[in-house]
Amino acid sequence: MGINIDTNDLRNLRRCVELAREALEDGDEPFGSVLVSAAGETLFEDRNRVKGGDETRHPEFEISRWAAAHLTPAERAAATVYTSGEHCPMCAASHGWVGLGRIVYAASSQQLTQWLTEWGCRAGPVAPLPITQVVPGAVVDGPADELTEEVKALHRARFPHLA
Ligand SMILES: [Zn+2]
Repeated sequence: MGINIDTNDLRNLRRCVELAREALEDGDEPFGSVLVSAAGETLFEDRNRVKGGDETRHPEFEISRWAAAHLTPAERAAATVYTSGEHCPMCAASHGWVGLGRIVYAASSQQLTQWLTEWGCRAGPVAPLPITQVVPGAVVDGPADELTEEVKALHRARFPHLA
């Protein structure tokens, strides 16, 4: 496991991967995220919902908005965001603006970009910058090696037409 990822983190990441699978099975992209309080309580969870045509419906963005509406600044800073795939720049910015705490991801944007290239798939319109390039003060842990193959397979399943 990643150097700073413990069994509790891994349990939360597994829930993110479940949500990602649920998204994929419902025709969305395989991404899922969970917001956990300082006490370890799951506060909110969501998964990708872009199939309706709104490409900003990322779970990490929903988490930022939920946190802004429901948590004090101190509660946000003490909370952890778990996610199956590293935040895109839009979600990283929202995370930074609302002042959420640590981020733990299963797969990095760099890994996803590498997989898409490997499969000959076109990259998205937004640069896959690391979170810390968008939010320099963010505390970020990942990737989680135990989940790499599972997350990769979920993304691969988006492209059934490929050989
Ligand atoms: Zn995003």
